[in-house]
Amino acid sequence: MYLNKFFRLPTTLAARLTLWYAGIFTLSTLVAFLAFYFVISTVLKERRDQDFLGDVQEYSSMLATEGMERVKSEIAWEVSSDGAEHIFLRLLSMDGEELLTTDMSAWEGVGSGSHALEKLKKGATHVLETLDLPEQEFQVRTVYGIIGPDLVLQIGESLEEDTEFLEIHRKIFVPLMAVMVIIAAFVGWLLAKRALRGVEEVTETAIEISEGALDKRVPYKVRGEEIERLANTFNHMLDRINVLIKEMREMTDNIAHDLRSPLARIRGAAEMALVNSASDQHRAFAANVIEDCDRLIGIINTMLDIAEAESGAAEITLEEVDIARVTRRACELFQAIAEENSIKITTQLPDSCVIYGETRKLQRMVANLLDNALKYTQPEGTVTVSVNADNGQVAISISDTGIGISEDDLPHIFKRFYRCDISRAQGGTGLGLSLVQAIVRSHGGRVNASSHLGKGSTFTVTLSQPALPTQPGH
Ligand code: ADP
Repeated sequence: MYLNKFFRLPTTLAARLTLWYAGIFTLSTLVAFLAFYFVISTVLKERRDQDFLGDVQEYSSMLATEGMERVKSEIAWEVSSDGAEHIFLRLLSMDGEELLTTDMSAWEGVGSGSHALEKLKKGATHVLETLDLPEQEFQVRTVYGIIGPDLVLQIGESLEEDTEFLEIHRKIFVPLMAVMVIIAAFVGWLLAKRALRGVEEVTETAIEISEGALDKRVPYKVRGEEIERLANTFNHMLDRINVLIKEMREMTDNIAHDLRSPLARIRGAAEMALVNSASDQHRAFAANVIEDCDRLIGIINTMLDIAEAESGAAEITLEEVDIARVTRRACELFQAIAEENSIKITTQLPDSCVIYGETRKLQRMVANLLDNALKYTQPEGTVTVSVNADNGQVAISISDTGIGISEDDLPHIFKRFYRCDISRAQGGTGLGLSLVQAIVRSHGGRVNASSHLGKGSTFTVTLSQPALPTQPGH
């Protein structure tokens, strides 16, 4: 369980690449070291064996040319110069009889060598063995070689030097390896980060786009062909999506536009019927038709208004608008409806607060938000309206103590025709907030909604104030 959690920890690609890089580097260094270690130990062993065989050869020719006494004195000299605890030499008969031996006190357990002598009898020229002796800390290498008729020379030497040499390599390797792994992980992390920076930029752009900045594109930079291809494809896809959205909007706007005239004609005919018909039933029908036409014309007009607002900031006529005044006026207009529904409107408005915008559109924006606040608040509730200017930004906030919006609905309420299930009992088209958002965006601002189901909602519109305040008192 814990192990699972541990191994699942690195979820980012950069962390995984770093781990892979460090892992592969460690493994290859380990393999390289083992190969190097194996080669060195083999070379050392072979060199020692060659030395042994050379010695056997030398003693053999010494015996042949200078006789036994010379051999004995050479053996004595060799042991005294190297030390009896580092080397021993023995002369044996083929049957294992010890004819001469150096000080063997440090070499207990060497044995009679019968095994090796057997091999020599069978025709081998020499026998090499590695021994583990109780008195010796290190292994011992020994050679048996025939140097004369029925005369075998055994030389034995401790492998202390070789073992220590290899030991030094082993000891250096562990800390060296640790340092190398840390460096490899760091370099791997840098490389992975560098390689993935382009992907991060694409992701950041995607996030900005998902938050509404549909015009954003991944900036062009040289980041490697693969990332460049990803960025280009991504930008191309966005262009395509934008074109499709635009075409779809244009189509629905055209349909809406084309429906307006026939609907107006139907409404006109129904009005005639309402005035001229003698039958009560027909007049009731005509009144229903007029009501439905008005509703449809209302929807169509709002759709066309949204389309107009969405067509961009260039389309709005900028004028100085006192948004505090616009808001106050809207509150006064809605006061009657509020009283009718026993809802209290409280305001926190400055005397004046000037922004640049289009008065008519800003009026509609405030009216829509206020209308919703009153529509979705039960009797005895409160709607609080405030305007605050701070740091060149104006925040228009409309809060209510109404039915609220669920967490699931909240991200969708600004979409066209979206209506929360809980509020379906109230009349509405689901276009009001889309229009609010389109107007706010066309003014270069943003609108946010926060809400708690059953407790109420707050809609905040943030717009920019002109750089130089033009109103007295501000
Ligand atoms: P509608 O004509 O349905 O009011 P809107 O676009 O104005 O359409 O609002 C979309 C949906 O958002 C509404 O149907 C309602 O469910 C929800 N909504 C908007 N404002 C509020 C609010 N103040 N309190 C609760 N729900 C709201």
